[in-house]
Amino acid sequence: MKLALLFFCAAFLFITPGKANGPFCYDEDEDCGPKSWGDTCNKGRRQSPVNIEINYDVLNKANKAQLYYSRDYSRSQDFILKNNGHTIQASLRADLTSTSYLQGGQDNLANKRYVFSQLHFHWGSNKDQGTEHTFNDKSYPMEGHFVHYSSEFNSLTEAINSTDPNALAVVGVVYVLSDDDNTAFKPILKALKNLKKSGDQTNGANLNLVKLLPKQERFYTFQYNGSLTTPDCAEVVLWNVIGNGARISKSQLQQFRDVLDAHNKPLENNFRPVQDLNEREIRAYETQVILSKY
Ligand SMILES: [Zn+2]
Repeated sequence: MKLALLFFCAAFLFITPGKANGPFCYDEDEDCGPKSWGDTCNKGRRQSPVNIEINYDVLNKANKAQLYYSRDYSRSQDFILKNNGHTIQASLRADLTSTSYLQGGQDNLANKRYVFSQLHFHWGSNKDQGTEHTFNDKSYPMEGHFVHYSSEFNSLTEAINSTDPNALAVVGVVYVLSDDDNTAFKPILKALKNLKKSGDQTNGANLNLVKLLPKQERFYTFQYNGSLTTPDCAEVVLWNVIGNGARISKSQLQQFRDVLDAHNKPLENNFRPVQDLNEREIRAYETQVILSKY
């Protein structure tokens, strides 16, 4: 099938585990802005997000890869939605977490199994900004970060506290604006109505993770070793940024912008600026998605 490319039609991914209600903020003019995040955030050599260059040469060299989703990963599930002051974050009920995982094939994803932990979003105040990763120096309105940890660890926290550069796998999805609502967002937006203030939390039902990804059965992914994009910016993330866009309507995105942050201001522009790539390589894959029976 035809691969609709991101850099033609639009589109792309991000992460925010770590501190939930810390003093950090995204405004460069404030004392709590990105330059003040400290330690690894400022000194690290493998920081995220980064700009991803996409061109014919890169795509022609893309290796084929497979990505398996467990059966529960593609099911509609109960979830918990939280406004942590920095983002809106969805996590699954604890008893459903361990059976919702993805796994690479053909040497993809370091041949590890990655357990789903949480999903959160980064978005802007207008359509020209919002994503953390940029593509050929262009930003898009929103980026979703599907955060997973390697099954070699017992928890997300244990994985973050390791020094393993592949401890976490974060799938980044870029959302571009569409005229029609994306029905996959409905469970989140229904729960979002209960979450105006920082610290608010609510329960939701029928969240389907796979439906929030681009619809294609194959897409381009860009992998590199990077970091969490919030303090303490631990360099433990195998990033998988999807190069094909998924969709959200303008009115759906507005519902995210209407949420309030810890200072009772609109929660928006919660994206970190791109970081130096340094010596890192970004590997392009033409990835085939496979839903597992198990
Ligand atoms: Zn994020």
